Amino acid sequence: MMTLSELQRHLERRGLRTTQPRLRLLQFFAETDGHFTPEEIAERFRLAGEPIPTATLYQNLRVFSAHGLVSEVIGGGGEVRYDTNLTPHSHLRCNGCGTLLDVALSLPDLQPQGQGHDWQITGARVELQGICPDCQAGTPTPPTPTL
Ligand SMILES: [Zn+2]
Ligand SMILES: [Zn+2]
Repeated sequence: MMTLSELQRHLERRGLRTTQPRLRLLQFFAETDGHFTPEEIAERFRLAGEPIPTATLYQNLRVFSAHGLVSEVIGGGGEVRYDTNLTPHSHLRCNGCGTLLDVALSLPDLQPQGQGHDWQITGARVELQGICPDCQAGTPTPPTPTL
């Protein structure tokens, strides 16, 4: 678990002002694994007895995303989810229940053919789609298993 001063340094290094909601959000992301909608994050804080005003939450999520403190991923229903896993990874998305799974992929040579061939490729975001084992077995898990 990161200490408050470590979290504060994370913000300062990016030139971000330290506020209580930002520290609490950072702590949540540091301690929690998953892909959360803003509504799910708000619910977590509400249940913990420390609600964050919706406008504050949305604004800070956008700021965090713009500064690389959290990454955005599109969930099974097209909704924006915030990914707490900041190490480079790819996603497996289930077409049945919408579950997102973090996976490590060994990528082949991704240099584009034709247009874009002269770009220097520095990274890739891959999302694979499929059917998860639960859905294959006919017992789909709810779309938000992380709650
Ligand atoms: Zn599934
Ligand atoms: Zn992820």
